Amino acid sequence: MAGEAQDDCLFCKIVAGDVPATVVRETETTVAFRDINPQAPTHVLVIPKAHYPDAASLAAAEPAIAADVLREAGEVAAQEKAESHRIVFNTGTGAGQTVFHTHAHVLGGRGLQWPPG
Ligand code: IMP
Repeated sequence: MAGEAQDDCLFCKIVAGDVPATVVRETETTVAFRDINPQAPTHVLVIPKAHYPDAASLAAAEPAIAADVLREAGEVAAQEKAESHRIVFNTGTGAGQTVFHTHAHVLGGRGLQWPPG
């Protein structure tokens, strides 16, 4: 069923506590944890606890939870004192998506170039 935990999903395992993560925030619907391969001084991933493969499928099925993810991304940036920051949802392998459980990257703490590579 849509939104249910997937046995083969790394981020579902983090939600379940079966894979360790450095959690910086948690709500009823979301978890925020530090990226294992940080690309900036602040690099936190915000995920919904429910499994949806990408941002668009989450927003279509659960718009309130998509809003929770965005709000939490902002809260992470504030908590990290990253006034200037970038919130990114890579979508599809061509855009660099490697984990197919919706996640917002929150990047900050250094100057960020535009356009990204
Ligand atoms: P994507 O490439 O946009 O799908 O982002 C996936 C992110 O997950 C990458 O930035 C990885 O470094 C990160 N990642 C992979 N495994 C782990 C983990 O076990 N803990 C935290 N971050 C992870």
